[in-house]
Amino acid sequence: MSAAAAGQVTIIKAGRLVDPDQGTVLTDQVIAIRANKVEAVGRNVAIPSNATVIDLSKMTVLPGLINCHTHLADGKYGEGDPLFQLKKSASQAVLESIANARATLESGFTTVRDVGVYPALNDVALRDAINNGYIIGPRMFVAGAYITITGGAGAMTGLAPDIQLPWDFRYGEANSPWEVRQKVRLLAHNGADHVKVLATGAVLTHGSNPKSEEFTPEELQAAVDEASHFGLRVAAHAHAPEGIKNAIRAGVASVEHATLIDDEGIALAKQRGTYLVMDIYDDECIQEDGRKGSMPTDFLEHDRDLGEAQRQNFRKALKAGVKLAFGTDAGVCPYGIDARQFAYMVKYGMTPMQAIQSATSSAADLIGRSSEFGSIKPGKYADVIAVAGDPLQDVSRLENVPFVMKDGKIYKQK
Ligand SMILES: [Zn+2]
Repeated sequence: MSAAAAGQVTIIKAGRLVDPDQGTVLTDQVIAIRANKVEAVGRNVAIPSNATVIDLSKMTVLPGLINCHTHLADGKYGEGDPLFQLKKSASQAVLESIANARATLESGFTTVRDVGVYPALNDVALRDAINNGYIIGPRMFVAGAYITITGGAGAMTGLAPDIQLPWDFRYGEANSPWEVRQKVRLLAHNGADHVKVLATGAVLTHGSNPKSEEFTPEELQAAVDEASHFGLRVAAHAHAPEGIKNAIRAGVASVEHATLIDDEGIALAKQRGTYLVMDIYDDECIQEDGRKGSMPTDFLEHDRDLGEAQRQNFRKALKAGVKLAFGTDAGVCPYGIDARQFAYMVKYGMTPMQAIQSATSSAADLIGRSSEFGSIKPGKYADVIAVAGDPLQDVSRLENVPFVMKDGKIYKQK
């Protein structure tokens, strides 16, 4: 960056400014941004005469939203059966994913925690292309691959047994604590930001039962311990109650889905400070695809009853005071509509402020980057969005974000 650019200040005038750290809304705030960081926030921040001024005084300004459960690098949306991935090369899948990244950023999500991909490491490539400025997308934190048992929730299944998959479709397969450690080491070396393990079966995988356990407690403990050697946190996919509890006891940072969490699981999560990332909107998309005939029938059978059970358990976990972070399983629904989940979170018990916190301050805490993003504060990245009206009254306002700034750069301004 040139010295002139480094000295240039951008001023945002915010009519209303949401502070998720405090759970408050401030009025008539001035945000000063230098390069990619917030420099000052307040009513009486000095405005340099040569500053670029962005007038959002009629809008509500919020920190950039964060989605803690995405699959941006899975290629074009809506191909139903994961086996479709085998019809394209890795480069084709990642090039198709460019549109997913852009749609996500332009809908107001400036950061994502991406939690698994076929083929392996396409997410690393996508993240790096965004960071290098080759393509437009959110700041990505990536898993590199799914760590899964053979034939399990994160495996590419449904093929004849004599078909040999290419290496990047079986990269994360592990069947003992030592094999899990070896995969964690490999992923850490190849640029993963966190580790994704599959503790139970899945809905959208052939031959996998969401109500059964997959990795054993020993394997989950090995994942968490080995990941900690590299400073990485672990996210565990789990639908079944015992698998959820095994993951929490092993010390994972978050349980994904947590669909059938029981009272003991809720108490454990609360006690251990484990985040739940409950994707309570995407059942709408699974059922819609079912009606259109584009969802494999075995997936619909897995999904039966799980959607409503998860929503009721979300309400219970919220009441118990368990930490909840926003995650949608983007890729199950089309990219760019993640914000529809906010209204469901409010419908199932959250206040609009709690729903916003789950996708800002709490999400940043789960990723371990509260000092870098999650609120608009001096020293943090200038990740700023704005919406018309008051999302604290009507949280669905977040479904239409006309202003998006990431890292001090404007990506959308309507
Ligand atoms: Zn997922």
